[in-house]
Amino acid sequence: MPVQFASAEPFGDAQLAGAPVRLPRPSRLGAPLPGAEELGPRAARALETLGLRTVGDLLEHLPRARGEARTIATLRRGETATVIVEVQKIDTRSVRRRGMKPRVEATVADHTGSTRVSFFNQPWLVQRYPRGTRLLLTVRIDERGRVSVTAHAPTDLQVAAEAQVAQYPASEGIDSTRILALMREHRAAVADTLEPLPARMRAAERLPDRPAALTALHVPATEQDPEGGRRRLAFDELLLVQLALLRRRARRERGAAAPRLGGPRELTARWLRDGLPFPLTTDQANALEDVDHDLARTHPMQRLLMGEVGSGKTVVALFALLRAVEQGWQGALMAPTETLAEQHFATIQTLMPGEAVPAALLTGSTTAARRADVLGKLASGELGLVVGTHALIEPDVRFARLAVVVVDEQHRFGVRQRAALDAKGRGDLAPHVLHMTATPIPRTLALVEHGDLDHTVLRELPRGRQPIETYVASGERERARAYERIREELRAGRQAFVVCPLVEESEALQAKAARAEFERLRDTELKGFRVVLMHGQLRPREKQEAMAAFAAGGADVLVATSVIEVGIDVPNATVMLVEDAERYGISQLHQLRGRIGRGEHASLCLLFGPKESARLKALAAHRDGFRLAQIDLELRRQGELIGTRQHGDARFRVALLPDDAPLLERAHLRAAAILRDDPELERPEHALLAQALAAVYGPEALAPIPA
Ligand code: ADP
Ligand code: MG
Repeated sequence: MPVQFASAEPFGDAQLAGAPVRLPRPSRLGAPLPGAEELGPRAARALETLGLRTVGDLLEHLPRARGEARTIATLRRGETATVIVEVQKIDTRSVRRRGMKPRVEATVADHTGSTRVSFFNQPWLVQRYPRGTRLLLTVRIDERGRVSVTAHAPTDLQVAAEAQVAQYPASEGIDSTRILALMREHRAAVADTLEPLPARMRAAERLPDRPAALTALHVPATEQDPEGGRRRLAFDELLLVQLALLRRRARRERGAAAPRLGGPRELTARWLRDGLPFPLTTDQANALEDVDHDLARTHPMQRLLMGEVGSGKTVVALFALLRAVEQGWQGALMAPTETLAEQHFATIQTLMPGEAVPAALLTGSTTAARRADVLGKLASGELGLVVGTHALIEPDVRFARLAVVVVDEQHRFGVRQRAALDAKGRGDLAPHVLHMTATPIPRTLALVEHGDLDHTVLRELPRGRQPIETYVASGERERARAYERIREELRAGRQAFVVCPLVEESEALQAKAARAEFERLRDTELKGFRVVLMHGQLRPREKQEAMAAFAAGGADVLVATSVIEVGIDVPNATVMLVEDAERYGISQLHQLRGRIGRGEHASLCLLFGPKESARLKALAAHRDGFRLAQIDLELRRQGELIGTRQHGDARFRVALLPDDAPLLERAHLRAAAILRDDPELERPEHALLAQALAAVYGPEALAPIPA
């Protein structure tokens, strides 16, 4: 029995019958918007272009910003614009030419001024729009300042002085004001939109309901309304992305069993005690424990190991692989390029001196005979450890007992390639997977980008790491000084990288520029030193030779394009000069710089570019990749705000990261809690949430999680 607010008194019949009822009828949102007859063909086409067909589409067409309404005072010659005005005077002018209907002339005004406008061929408007009528007019002002009306409609819109109105993404043929007017006309339909959030959660989060949030955004009543509405809709987006990711992860985890690698440490214990040439950092030790714990479960590990260049991820990777080997299983490490695969293979050898673990390298340039041998030994189980490229996931590569896969720079592998790797497990058992990335991202972004993985971070760099001084340099004097510094280092027996400008348009142009710079340096500034060239257009064999020469100390200077970005480990290299550094992004420069400072000597990084560049300044001031990632994110957000950035994060319509980080954290916790109680979203209070999830992420998002 319904009782009155804060009392035990039941309502009387009359009260109940008179209570406002809000019964949303979502079917009404499917009603079509006015078409060409009402709006004119151009505006109707423009709505099509914007994807606005129904009332529901219109309500979801959210304002991009708020700004001044267009006013009479701001109209300029040669433009077409929409204004909201009041009719002050209206009459007909006869037109002398025969067969033409009289022209209607009106004086219309808003709070900024008044103007005369002409309506053609519609004499009846004099009766329809008497003095005092509020009108929405789309007008065209010709080069002589004459204003003619191209579209008109009565409106209840009031635009007071200094009114801020919602500004909508518009299109050729319909402007923001006109969309606003349509929106106002259909505002009552927000009552028909559905509330996807369960009431209990919405109350606990103190969020307005969805219809209220939409109203607050479209037709705000207070100054705080738009932001309040935006936050509510942002919460929805973030909650849905977390639900989708957490469900995907649960599905992956339950979908396949993995070999349980919980046996005692023997080989790994000995290796950590006697074989490893240095003590582990605390972060590395913790990462080993995370991995060990994952491997001992019967579900496949899905862990992301994030650690910037030089943080020592390979040790963690090798530990995971050796845990498989010591229990009679196989491990594979997959890298995105041949150079990286080779480097990993070499690092692994140096990390386990004296351990006779049979290991092999398999890449696209492995000879046919060698390849046949490796494939045979992988299939028989004789080979415990393999390092390679995509070559590892080709169909004819079969493993006897694959249990652990390490994927380096995971974002470079597509979903299908990872699935192919999963299928290489033994029978129905999927391998455990450790993903590694050197691209540090703040936790908030990680929740969105890698929300379906467990995370381990290596923050601490191994002890004894040498400082890298970074300078932004420009001008001839600094350039001359830079080459002098490079020559000093080279004379002292060190090596240097010279990184050529990024040429986005074409690999071929980039290669050409790199070659020219290589020749110039070889013949002038660095004459007498051994200079080698490396770029993306060289044959794999040539690249390998250049790299090998540089790594072995057979070359003093490596002139390269950004192909040296990841993985190259040459501890003797102590200088890096980057040309036109402002063309690179922060994280790319940080990665590049990670190629130096890896040995026992202090290092120097010279970034040629404008001194005032915020990005270059950030690089000069910080070496912590997580800090730089945060700065990068902030700079990009600012770029978006002032409109210099063309393509924003298209993933969200409303949510803004990092600003909405606290909201994201809350959405994450809520999503986890919802799925804990109701993993399939089967409860009635989750039905609309499930529907919203499928609408955004497709029906796959609702695919069941295996028991
Ligand atoms: P990443 O792959 O994360 O860039 P690596 O695993 O290649 O880093 O390690 C970088 C260098 O640091 C290697 O030469 C490695 O031998 C060394 N290294 C790794 N861990 C330690 C440690 N705990 N102490 C000293 N040196 C280490
Ligand atoms: Mg590495």
